[in-house]
Amino acid sequence: MTHIASADESAVVRAQRELQDAGVRTVIGTVVNASGVTLAKSVPLARLGIFHHSGMGAAPVWHVFAIDGGIAFTDTITPVGDMRLKIDIAGLRVLPGGRAWAPANLFEQDGAASPACARGILADVEGRLDAAGYRALVGHELEFFLVSPDGSALENTPWVPYGATGLLDRSELLEDLLSAMNQAGLPIEQIHAEYGRNQFEFSLPPASPVHAADTAVFAKVIVGIVARAHGMQASFSPLPFAGAVGNGAHQHLSLQTNGMSLFSGGSGPHGISHEGGAAIGGIIEGLPDIQGFLTGSVLSGSRLAPGTWSGAYLCWGLENREASVRFLNEGESNPHGPNVEVKIIDPSANVYLASAAILALALDGIRSGRELPGEIPGDPARLSEDERHRANVRLLSDSPAAIIDTLDKSRLARGLLGDAIVDATVAVRRYEQRTSAELAPDALAERFRLAWSI
Ligand code: GLU
Ligand code: MG
Repeated sequence: MTHIASADESAVVRAQRELQDAGVRTVIGTVVNASGVTLAKSVPLARLGIFHHSGMGAAPVWHVFAIDGGIAFTDTITPVGDMRLKIDIAGLRVLPGGRAWAPANLFEQDGAASPACARGILADVEGRLDAAGYRALVGHELEFFLVSPDGSALENTPWVPYGATGLLDRSELLEDLLSAMNQAGLPIEQIHAEYGRNQFEFSLPPASPVHAADTAVFAKVIVGIVARAHGMQASFSPLPFAGAVGNGAHQHLSLQTNGMSLFSGGSGPHGISHEGGAAIGGIIEGLPDIQGFLTGSVLSGSRLAPGTWSGAYLCWGLENREASVRFLNEGESNPHGPNVEVKIIDPSANVYLASAAILALALDGIRSGRELPGEIPGDPARLSEDERHRANVRLLSDSPAAIIDTLDKSRLARGLLGDAIVDATVAVRRYEQRTSAELAPDALAERFRLAWSI
């Protein structure tokens, strides 16, 4: 015990010295709550050790701060009580401007993990996979729209979807983004102009689930810093502009056991193994139950239109961008190896919870020996109603109320991730529905355009 404590102590001292040498004066620790918003506390560098060991105070309502700054109180989350927000020093990264960032967890005052702490929940799921002999890697894709500082649309300049124009017009900003990520030791894999006007996307390399989610949060912090430095803001709303394409937050997932991929070398389609098929089967079967963790916000449903590559159809298929689960085969064109991309996730989701829910479904599918459903090779929209029915493919719900009601009632979701986080998520999302029921689509998109920005 003494040994562990002193090893931890020297890690703090070492981190503090390194940050000092890097010119850091302030350390920011973040958590993401059930609304998908990022909350933070910061300390002067000298208090790094306290931030790590004892943490800073955070009221229980941190779990249920809503996207408009209101609070979605529940029977158990009231103004009474206090939690501790403690940073994980292993995740410390230097930010531009004399600051450093670290991911944080929420604990009760007695030191127990807060049951609604999303990062803790994902670590728990990662531990369950590990105990069962599986190793997961997650690769995040982040899409965002550049907007004016007040959230309004930028002036119309020529825009070519996936074109070189946007890359040239915004080259300085994108260069700063790449170099800040490089300097932090978290390089971006690729960046491109997306379909929507002033929309960009970049991909992060696959990593273990908690680390990958931490990196996605860090990347959003960097995007926020860089956009501001160039006189703009970045919108991570699922639907920044009504009637246009939305932002996805797709997650690529690979699974291994004993160093072998579950998605190759097997006897199923495309070499998918029996266990790999069960994992995909578990995800597809449970997706409607956990959709509230992936596309739960009041704006999420409007993004989920067929024909927008948001994966609105509940099915899987090789390289199928209209399927909620797109399969990517092994081969030369896929250096990261075979994986599945869960396309329906959007950036209003809590990135830790989205990973936790999908991975927990995959493990549940393996444990209960689910079958791999039939593959849907083409665009399901081109099938007739009757053909879709026979192929067992349907659209996922796009109704915020129905998505959240299903989550609330789901014994599966409650069993996999716990009542506390389901209740907090249901509370904040129902609050969103209640408080914006009167708004027309344009006004709704405008009101929350910057709600998930950092
Ligand atoms: N913007 C699309 C979405 O809402 C995704 C486009 C793509 O396939 O990258 O998910
Ligand atoms: Mg994209």
